[in-house]
Amino acid sequence: MRDKLLKEIGMSLFTICAFSFVSLSFLVDIDFKNRDLSDLIDSKHEVLANEISTLNPAPPVIMVKRLSETFGNYSQNIVNHSGISYDYSKKFALQLGNDPANFNEEFIASFFKSEFLQTKVLENTNWMIGRDWDSYEDFAQNFDEKVQYINQSVIAEFGISDTTYLLPQVMQAGAPDWLKTGIVALMIFGFAVLGGFLYALPLAFKHDGIHNDHVFHNKSQTRHYPAIIVFICLVVFYIVLYQLPAYLTNQVVLLTPVAEKLAGGASDRWFLYGFLYTIAMMTMGFKMMLKYKGNKYQQVRTASVLFFQIAFAFTLPQILTSFQLPAYDLKSAWPLEYTFFFDWRVGQYLNEGTFGIFLFGWGVLLFAVGVPLFTYFFGKRWYCSWVCGCGGLAETVGDPYRHLSDKSLGAWKIERYLVHGVLAFAVLMTVWVSYTTFTGISELLGISSYDVRSVYGFSIGFVFAGAVGTGFYPVMGNRVWCRFGCPLAAYLGLVQRFKSRFRITTNGGQCISCGNCSTYCEMGIDVRWYAQRGQNIVRSSCVGCGVCSAVCPRGVLKLENKGEDGRISENPILIGQEGVSLNI
Ligand code: SF4
Ligand code: SF4
Repeated sequence: MRDKLLKEIGMSLFTICAFSFVSLSFLVDIDFKNRDLSDLIDSKHEVLANEISTLNPAPPVIMVKRLSETFGNYSQNIVNHSGISYDYSKKFALQLGNDPANFNEEFIASFFKSEFLQTKVLENTNWMIGRDWDSYEDFAQNFDEKVQYINQSVIAEFGISDTTYLLPQVMQAGAPDWLKTGIVALMIFGFAVLGGFLYALPLAFKHDGIHNDHVFHNKSQTRHYPAIIVFICLVVFYIVLYQLPAYLTNQVVLLTPVAEKLAGGASDRWFLYGFLYTIAMMTMGFKMMLKYKGNKYQQVRTASVLFFQIAFAFTLPQILTSFQLPAYDLKSAWPLEYTFFFDWRVGQYLNEGTFGIFLFGWGVLLFAVGVPLFTYFFGKRWYCSWVCGCGGLAETVGDPYRHLSDKSLGAWKIERYLVHGVLAFAVLMTVWVSYTTFTGISELLGISSYDVRSVYGFSIGFVFAGAVGTGFYPVMGNRVWCRFGCPLAAYLGLVQRFKSRFRITTNGGQCISCGNCSTYCEMGIDVRWYAQRGQNIVRSSCVGCGVCSAVCPRGVLKLENKGEDGRISENPILIGQEGVSLNI
């Protein structure tokens, strides 16, 4: 009765806070009246700033559209005034006499007004002068295609070239001041965390040991509607965060006082994300501590991932930013940290002198020496289960879904292709961007490194790591990203499989084939299969979370870092018609 009540109060508190958080996008107005936009919009665009200040107040879901239209109209006016207006073609054809042969430098100088426009037209259409054209239509079609590029240059010169970054910032300037005081944030996040704690508290009254009771009868943990709702919410959140950040304006400004204290600047969507990520991990980490009480390995491991998330992933980059130094999470290694060799980033390091060189050297040492060395001694668990933020989120927030990982051979096959495919893609992408970084040339083998990085950033950084990697917890288990997509996990896994002291030893004689270990293996390893044969587990995907061992009622499984000898032994128990013998 007491436990049920605590859980219900906790869940209600959390749900109310979640609704309040989301409703900020729908119910709280953005208002630009009497707002100073001079820090964001240059005085030469005073007309634009004035137009924005006349927009009627509206919540973000409506204001984003109004503001986008205002930016669009402003750019159109710039084009009409200084670029090639879209009704140019009739006049153009008339003056050329419908004859492409008349298109030359003199014509460009006479037809287009400004010197800037003449230069841009010539730059883009030089190749069209003096060519044999099949028809005027053919010429006109090619010219039409160039018009948009020419107008983009005009907008870049006279207007605002990239409104994608400006729009969320302008939206923040119009957010209400009362949201920025910290009081609303304290209430929403404070009560949400309290709700999480109350929900977890009944675990404190249970006896030691892991309580995974009834997971397959619990609708919120088994792909039924409550889990599907969580799944949809998570995926939508990631889509909005990455693709439509302006809709989160009111949520972002909630954290203004925290961002000012920590980073000495305004909050942005990544600050909000880091904050949510960290408090979600802390709340569910508390639950893990209670659930695994009596199991030191699990408790210390949980404390470790929380420490690395709070200190290294969230706080340290903010402190570095406040000192105007490159924000770097020192524990994040390439290729998970896939922007490490991007030109802007290497430029940042080099501009920072000794400290920048230290950061760059640290990053190189970490992936080239630290990762293989530590993995040799401890297996990939030192990173995936003790240090990594993605692993930390999976082990805390994702823990209720760990049994949903697919244990089939088919899933194992897909996992091997996918995760090593992503590693290969990350290596290739890095070759391309490094070439640009260190030579200044943007193309290699005719492919632009900027295109390669944007394809990687979208497909792996956003879709795989974000929307699928975390959003799919409630339907595919908690290590979707680590298992199928993380290039660092693939790299660690190769070392673990072929050159490591780590293994899980199995005392096959004690196994009663209950299957707990396989059920709760988040990496989809059929642990029982190995346990029944008394075979060591040296799978590259094993993250050494130790939960298989923790849930085994017979003490069959043991995580060990011994010498390499005898680590890999195929068929240690031979089962034949004549009997069973040990293959030693
Ligand atoms: S085999 Fe055990 S230690 Fe390895 S990932 Fe699965 S549950 Fe964790
Ligand atoms: S949990 Fe232990 S006893 Fe049960 S199948 Fe796995 S190794 Fe065997």
